[in-house]
Amino acid sequence: MKNVLNLNDTGPIWYPYSSVTSGGDYIKVDSAKGVYLYTPDGRKILDAVSSWWVNLHGHSNEYIAQKIYEQALKLEHVIFSGFTHDPAISLAERLLKILPSNQKKLFYSDNGSTAVEVAIKMSLQYWHCKGETKKKAVAIKGAFHGDTFGAMSVSGRGVFNQEFSEWMFETVYIDFPSEEKEMECLEQFEAIVMQGDVACFIYEPLLQGAAGMRTYSPYVLEQLLKIAGDYDVICIADEVMTGFGRTGRYFASLNLKIYPDIMCLSKGITGGTMALGATTCSFRIADTIKNNVFYHGHSFTANPLACAAANASLDIFLKDECQKNISRITLAHEEFIPVLRTFSFISRISHVGTVLSFAIDFGEEEGYLHPKRNQLYDFFLKRNILLRPLGNVLYIIPPYVITNEQLDEVYRAVLDLLEYLSTGRNI
Ligand SMILES: *Cc1c(COP(=O)(O)O)cnc(C)c1O
Repeated sequence: MKNVLNLNDTGPIWYPYSSVTSGGDYIKVDSAKGVYLYTPDGRKILDAVSSWWVNLHGHSNEYIAQKIYEQALKLEHVIFSGFTHDPAISLAERLLKILPSNQKKLFYSDNGSTAVEVAIKMSLQYWHCKGETKKKAVAIKGAFHGDTFGAMSVSGRGVFNQEFSEWMFETVYIDFPSEEKEMECLEQFEAIVMQGDVACFIYEPLLQGAAGMRTYSPYVLEQLLKIAGDYDVICIADEVMTGFGRTGRYFASLNLKIYPDIMCLSKGITGGTMALGATTCSFRIADTIKNNVFYHGHSFTANPLACAAANASLDIFLKDECQKNISRITLAHEEFIPVLRTFSFISRISHVGTVLSFAIDFGEEEGYLHPKRNQLYDFFLKRNILLRPLGNVLYIIPPYVITNEQLDEVYRAVLDLLEYLSTGRNI
């Protein structure tokens, strides 16, 4: 029979964000060290996106590997109900010391989406314990909070999730608070929360990732949090991407004077080595839920290997050297911006900390499925640089160990592209 997929042609794996049939054209990676990925056919690819924004200290970091190894020989896993262990306890204590000072309790899960699920459930349970019915969530348009149902429900609706929208719970969206829209967003937000049925407001502080690495001001976010406070709305900072130095500070929320009630962490938490999620909450949340059982847990909750990796990553992260690297990358990005500005077809330059992004105007529609996305991706891969455009938006989010020379290599490749495009040629 024709038109029937031959499953053997595409390999055994169904890849993320892919059809069943897109199995063939994946680049196999044998090993990785520092910022480089090595392929079996001898390629050395510079990872300028920290492997989906997770890697902090370079690939195959020896210190973290050693700590995972030592932990694996000692205690690889234990049920986290009725039992506990040092790697989880010390990690929680250490994180709560560097998180915004109002965060008092930490709940473990195993990825960013589950960290968000836990946060949403905590906020709902909070209202349940208070005996109030508040069901709505408020989020910012374009948000990405993960791919499980709760996380999808509070994410911006679009290509990522529209096929499942019928099964999602109700979320109300405010516009993205770009500079021109700040006042409007504050008004929208107040109009929604004043109705009194909003359980929580969830946001990616200062920087929306999947929406195209776009930034907004700490000032407007602080105003939103203030309004939320006035109307007793639980604020959830999804720092899955912004945590651990991406925005310059340890956590993006530390840039504000008003702290969130709940925070979600994952991605960089283990330095990008193992899957781990954490959700923290303030005294107010913990004290209200108090003796009520929180019905949530995962088989691999607080896996000792992941906690050991996270502790090791934190050791490196808190060192002067790492913090200096973060400042160095921040400065390098800053100095590259004037160069970007010389190209008329570049717009929406966003920069915060180690993240730099900009849009290339091809005179076509925008969005994740932008027709030029694949050509942009290929342009850089041919030069052995991994940049993974979000539609027509290019962004750089490197591991902190990237050297100035390696960073220059990335900038040069970007310049090559822009100069090529500025001659009127198309990619
Ligand atoms: C990636 C991401 C998530 C989801 O994390 P996963 O580990 O991929 O489930 C949630 N929120 C934000 C802001 C993210 O960038």
